[in-house]
This record gives sequence, structure tokens and C-alpha cells, in this order.
Amino acid sequence: MIVFMQPGTLEDSDEVRAVKNRAISIGLKPEVRETQGEHYAIVEIYMIDGESVHTAAVADHVFEMSGVAKIIRVTPPQVSLFHGGTHARELRLSPSIVVGNGTPCQVVLGPCTVDEHIDTVVMSLVEHGIKMIRGGCWKPRSNAGSFPGHGERGLRWLLAAAKKYGVEVVFTEVMESNHIDVVRRVKKETGFTGTVVLWVGARTQNTILLEALGAQRESPVMLKNSANAVGVDDLYNRASWVLSGPKVWEKDGSLDRGASLAPGNDRLMLCLRGIEKRDKGADHRFDQNVDWIRTLRRAKVWTPICVDPSHSAGRRDLVFDHLAFALQYQPHLIMIEGGYLEANMGLCDQAQMLPIGDIPRILEMVRVHNETRTK
Ligand code: PEP
Ligand code: MN
Repeated sequence: MIVFMQPGTLEDSDEVRAVKNRAISIGLKPEVRETQGEHYAIVEIYMIDGESVHTAAVADHVFEMSGVAKIIRVTPPQVSLFHGGTHARELRLSPSIVVGNGTPCQVVLGPCTVDEHIDTVVMSLVEHGIKMIRGGCWKPRSNAGSFPGHGERGLRWLLAAAKKYGVEVVFTEVMESNHIDVVRRVKKETGFTGTVVLWVGARTQNTILLEALGAQRESPVMLKNSANAVGVDDLYNRASWVLSGPKVWEKDGSLDRGASLAPGNDRLMLCLRGIEKRDKGADHRFDQNVDWIRTLRRAKVWTPICVDPSHSAGRRDLVFDHLAFALQYQPHLIMIEGGYLEANMGLCDQAQMLPIGDIPRILEMVRVHNETRTK
């Protein structure tokens, strides 16, 4: 990996020192080369593997710093979620919204599935101070007779409403690779200029989709853990596909290393949504796995971490308990299903949907948490 500084940046500058210090802090050995050009000095910083950290495993965002012009890889990326360092990511989702390292916990809220009422739902969510909206358009199903979501039509309703009410960040689920193109096209057609975060759900096991999400960097990606996962390895595996970048293979089946240098998508978040419950008689729908946050932090995972207390609770009266428990682990984001009037709870996951009247209570809990959190 070579980090090119902006032309004119000198070797003896705060910017170069900051890049070097960051490289050292994660265990790499930086070597600085300054070449005097006709008008400017050109500074390149070569990132040499450290004892236990390979440069190929380090995500690009680590060196997206002041004074850096571009980052070039010389070996195919094999970016890992933990590179042995202390650099956690602050992910900018919109001009006014940053999530991750050190930022207050933020709320994503909206219906399980988008339906024909989405315009009024988005309007009232915005009125209640919700800045990031969720809504599924393609819904994973447990049987062929269940509602599949409104698909592209629903997405159009959702993004048109987001544009109309000035929402900057929308979260929606993708289930197969061509959905990424549909999102891009509908975004253009509706004129929505905000960010669409694409999430992969607990039931989707599709590595071609994950690779396709890694081959684009326009949309940040949020990976939910698989429902049948037993530990954080599930998320490491899923993330590795998104982070690896597009690979080109030779006719003999070997990797074309020179053609496989493009980075993957490191605009990545993880979401803990619960795992299959051990006690089938328990009231909640999935066992909470928020304790994974400790494991992820211990492993120095750098992505922002979201918790979805709606799907673990599975019942309206339990969502607040699951939310309160989750907040103790200091997630960066909370994603909740809600926003409907009590008389109409939408088409999917009605039992866990919180009515619009509950929003002030959610926001108050998160506000108090943010004021009193310890780290
Ligand atoms: C959802 O967020 O509506 C959803 C389907 O979630 P999960 O994949 O976690 O079940
Ligand atoms: Mn749902």
C-alpha cells in the first residue's frame, strides 16, 4: 500500500507525521520518500508489513486523512475487520450525520416493510425528529404465500418521501445483486440525493450479493448477523466478502493479482439482531446477542455497530427491555421498527412494531443514555 500525499505536502509536516503515527499505531512500518519535482515535492509513504499486521489486511479508510491525495494497493486487498490497532471508524453517512467511534448513539426508525402509507409515515417520523429512516422493500419470507414486499415500487415510494421531507439517510434491505442497480436507478429517478444504506438480512446467505456490495462504494453496507449464528465469526465471514474487493481470475483458476488491486467497500456497519433462541418457550423472538459488542471491541473491530432490538424482542411490550439492555453495551446505532398509527401496524412484523406515540420515549432513552454514557 502506498499513500500519496497532496502535491506540495512536505515530508516534515504535521500531515505526514499523522499518517506515519497512525501506521505505527496499527503495527505497520511506514517509509517516507520525498521526490523534489519541478514545482512541488511529492511525498509517498510506503506501508511495509509489521510483525503481526499485513498491509493487505488494513482498510483504506485508515489512511483517508488530511493531506492524503490517494491510496494505491500493490497487493490484492484482504481487508480484515480487526487489524490489531486502535483505529475505529467514524463513518460519515451524510453531511450532518456521522456514526461510529466516539459519536453519540443514533436512532434509525421506520416500518418493517414499506407500503402505500409510507409518505405519511415518513412525514410524521421527521416531525418527531427521526433523521434516519428504515424500510424494507424486498422482504425475506418463510413461505411462498407470504407478502414479498413492494420491491421497486416500494423503493420509489420510500425515496420519493425521503426526498420530499428532507431525510438524508435511508436504510433498506437488498437480497440479490441486481437490487443494488435498482436502488441506484430509483435513486436517480426520484432525485433522492441522500445516502441509501443497503443492509443484508439475517436470512440472506448470498455471497454473490456480498461481493457485489463490496464492488461498489456508493452505498454503505450494514450486515446483520445470521439468525442461526453462534458467534462473531458469522459477521467476520460476511464482512470478508464485502471488504475483499472485486477479484479477477485467470483461465487456470488462479488469482490475477495485478487486476485484483481495487479496494472493497469499507463503508461498513454490523448489526446485532438476535440469534435463534435456546428456550423455544421464551416470550421473546430471538436471544439478544448484544454481548457480541464486547467481543467485537476486544478484537478491535473498527466498524460502527448497530443493535436491532425489534427483531430480538419480537413483541411490542418487550422492545423497550431489549433496547435498555442493548444500550448498556454502547452501540453506535439502534435500528427500531415503528412509526405507525396504532390502528394500522403495517404489513409485516406487526407484533413488534412500535406506534408513532412511542417515539418520544425511545428518543428520550437514547438521549439520556448519550448524556450519561461512560465511554
Ligand atoms: C428486517 O429488518 O425487517 C428484517 C427482515 O430483519 P432480519 O433480517 O434481522 O430478520
Ligand atoms: Mn422486520
